[in-house]
Amino acid sequence: MSAAVGGTALREGGACAEPQVLRQRGQREVFCGLTSIVWLHRKIPDAFFLIVGSRTCAHLMQSAAGVMIFAEPRFGTAIIEERDLAGLADIDEELDRVVGQLLERRPDIRMLFLVGSCPSEVIKLDLARAAARLSRIHLPRVRVVNYTGSGIETTFTQGEDSCLTALVEHLGEAPPDRRSLLIAGCLPDIVEDQFRRIFDELDIGPVAFFPPRSSLELPEVGRGTRVLMAQPFLGDTAQALAKRGAQILPAPFPFGAEGTTLWLKAAAAAFGVEDMHFRNVTAPRRERAARALERYRDALAGKRVFFFPDTQMEPSLARFLARECAMGLVEVGSPYLNKLLVDNDLALLPEQTVLSEGQDVDLQLDRCRAARPDLTVCGLGLANPLESEGLATKWSIELVFSPIHGYEQAGDLAELFARPLLRRERLRV
Ligand code: SF4
Repeated sequence: MSAAVGGTALREGGACAEPQVLRQRGQREVFCGLTSIVWLHRKIPDAFFLIVGSRTCAHLMQSAAGVMIFAEPRFGTAIIEERDLAGLADIDEELDRVVGQLLERRPDIRMLFLVGSCPSEVIKLDLARAAARLSRIHLPRVRVVNYTGSGIETTFTQGEDSCLTALVEHLGEAPPDRRSLLIAGCLPDIVEDQFRRIFDELDIGPVAFFPPRSSLELPEVGRGTRVLMAQPFLGDTAQALAKRGAQILPAPFPFGAEGTTLWLKAAAAAFGVEDMHFRNVTAPRRERAARALERYRDALAGKRVFFFPDTQMEPSLARFLARECAMGLVEVGSPYLNKLLVDNDLALLPEQTVLSEGQDVDLQLDRCRAARPDLTVCGLGLANPLESEGLATKWSIELVFSPIHGYEQAGDLAELFARPLLRRERLRV
């Protein structure tokens, strides 16, 4: 059944367990996929991200990354000015020249990402063909891969999804009878090391992380590959890996003590780890995480949180806040509810949780203002106006930049949400 609610379609689920989802199709206030270069370039230090874009793209990167992009750390922008179709051949030549100069100047680059954007003069370009041509010219020293960070259809976390999806094509074929575990999604090195230690103790292996820390160490994938997704916004990556024969292990995401345990449990079940052994390895860590969470319980318990759709991490984080921090959920918005990936988190949300998918910012602002939540999780653009109206906010982008996965980070994750509430309390005092 469906009904119109102020331009919003409200779908009621069929059977009992299906949650209600508000489908929102309106004005969006999000960063584009180029933003993900800020964390991707740190993760793969021998890669270079060349944005093929406009001055706007260059300015976005400059302000989002807070660095001088023209000083060339590991990303830069080839600025394409408006020109007619007849000028496209010149652009190809220009791109070849820019890439040639860059690679000559920077012999450390092993992988070059050509990142498309949304200005019309860039959309006309066939970057896939350009990447294939440039790969032929510069192989074996440099592999050239293209993807889009365009803001027309993507939100900022989908930039990582596009990047990794493009990279899946370049993964070697693993022998079908070789069982291995692949963790897909950018994680800070320190978190990767912690997970690697846990998998070692559980006797699960070999384990590879995707993307790898070096572009020379791309993992292989095949029918024996079991995949744990590390980020809920990697729907296309998951599908691309599945197409290569890998099996995606269904699990909630590893946020908090419970989420981390269930995520590890999915791998343990796939690799036949005994329950007792699993408990011995995880219980002390789980208890430590629960103790770390306890410190923020007073600040968070009973407080009401509203999520604007921004990162696709919202359902997983809401599950953590509701179940491990005793927070109330006013509304959980997500740009896209990818059932394949977040179903296990959705199943753990309290009954009657209001979910919304997509964005219609004015309607969402109305609902948020009417509800007056204790904490609003939203993009940078909405945070300042809401703060000025007396609402405490948390920037959702921080949740992408900060180490928040796993047992050791459970307390830090709770603190990220508690901080704005505690600051407001102090101001009141
Ligand atoms: S890709 Fe599009 S949305 Fe992103 S900065 Fe460039 S012009 Fe703006």
